Amino acid sequence: AETWHNVPLAPPDSIFKLTAAFKADTYPQKVNLGVGAYRDDDNKPWVLPVVKKASQILLNDRSLDHEYLPITGLPEFVSSAARLILGENSPAIAENRVVSVQTISGTGANHLAALFLSRYYQFNGDKVVYLSDPTWEFSQGYWIPTLRPCSESLCHLQQCWHQPAFVPLLRPKTIGLDFAGFVAKLESAPERSVFLLHACAHNPTGVDPTKEQWETIADVILARKHYAFFDTAYQGFASGDLDRDAAAVRYFVSRGVPLLVCQSFAKNAGLYGERVGALHLVSPNKETADRVRSQLSVLQRSEISNPPSYGARVVALILNNPELFEEWKADIRTMAGRIIKMREELYRLLTEKLKTPGNWDHIINQIGMFRRVDRFDFGFKKTQSKVLTDDAHVYLTVNGRISMAGLNSKNIRYFAEALDRVVR
Ligand code: PLP
Repeated sequence: AETWHNVPLAPPDSIFKLTAAFKADTYPQKVNLGVGAYRDDDNKPWVLPVVKKASQILLNDRSLDHEYLPITGLPEFVSSAARLILGENSPAIAENRVVSVQTISGTGANHLAALFLSRYYQFNGDKVVYLSDPTWEFSQGYWIPTLRPCSESLCHLQQCWHQPAFVPLLRPKTIGLDFAGFVAKLESAPERSVFLLHACAHNPTGVDPTKEQWETIADVILARKHYAFFDTAYQGFASGDLDRDAAAVRYFVSRGVPLLVCQSFAKNAGLYGERVGALHLVSPNKETADRVRSQLSVLQRSEISNPPSYGARVVALILNNPELFEEWKADIRTMAGRIIKMREELYRLLTEKLKTPGNWDHIINQIGMFRRVDRFDFGFKKTQSKVLTDDAHVYLTVNGRISMAGLNSKNIRYFAEALDRVVR
């Protein structure tokens, strides 16, 4: 038989398929609310002014070359990235018990962390990781059984066989957090289970636990000896404030919850394609950290060998230069602020202007949601989102998630009216 006759054709990636359909559409007022990338008020990708500045500095730096970075990444990048998420005065950093490895953006961090846990985490029975329901759809990809060569010897194939299990997250009626369901799952899961948590701006729901709820979650995780696997792809981008968006992670560290953090600079620095990210694992002491670092290096070596340098240099410059850091914060506020404005305007159009039937409070009513997220779930029926696409040329994923960044002062009225027609 032909060599690859056994390879089935995979379905196209849903988001990229949506983007392709949007591009092919010739309708002048078409709206793309599918892609999870920031757009300015002219619906254009936005290169952050501070990134332009940092790039210029790099361009003029004659001392730079194209040598390999160390396996764990650019030292000044990983150390400043750790301080950004864990806090300037983090005791864990001061005690040298944080292992930080530069990764291929957030996806790479998730993958490396999943691989490390599958090799070394002492599960209690089945190797299961608990994801939220719904979750960012790609999360599942990291946990799909994969065959990969052992780093020691290419002759041995070792399987990592995490399987996702699901934690209820949304209460459909209010589009709020199903906190009771979440806690019940934390309590009923076998001890030492792994829970994937989004540090802020949960994707795709935009629903985050409150401060008090995080405290309860930490209590139960500690009591049940679980492991917190944090994914943080929106620090600063969610509320406009880097520290506020890191609060849950820092609180968990202060409580001594065993955890790791997968960090991405795709959204908050607008460096999507440069693939800048890091994995930070907070361990109990320096001696453990040294052992963990050595094994993460072994895995990294067999996965990507060394991480890419350009984006890491840009971010390191910004994080380590007080002036650039302030400029970055202003750029982040520009992005978060525009999205918050779109939320307010959409809410006003639906409730005051069009008097659209239904309750739209979830767009703005929870302080956390309003300030912390870039997207929310309409609680749509699949057919409604399809009608929006087919009749109004508004492109969104079938679960009704829209990316607020796709709205701007020119298309928001059109979108609100289309939405109004669909739900009437
Ligand atoms: N985690 C979450 C929840 C995300 O939404 C994303 C991107 O959309 C990522 C991780 C990783 O993205 P990237 O690999 O581009 O950093």
